Amino acid sequence: MAVWKCSACGETKEGRCRPNTCEKCGAPKESFVKAEEATKKA
Ligand SMILES: [Zn+2]
Repeated sequence: MAVWKCSACGETKEGRCRPNTCEKCGAPKESFVKAEEATKKA
């Protein structure tokens, strides 16, 4: 299970697949990055 993070609003969501859209801000799936990868860059 991966943790996906919305780069637009910071919402996080667990799942095997990237979410289609952000439930919080409506950003497209392209806005989601794996939380682990985001942490590495930050
Ligand atoms: Zn969002």
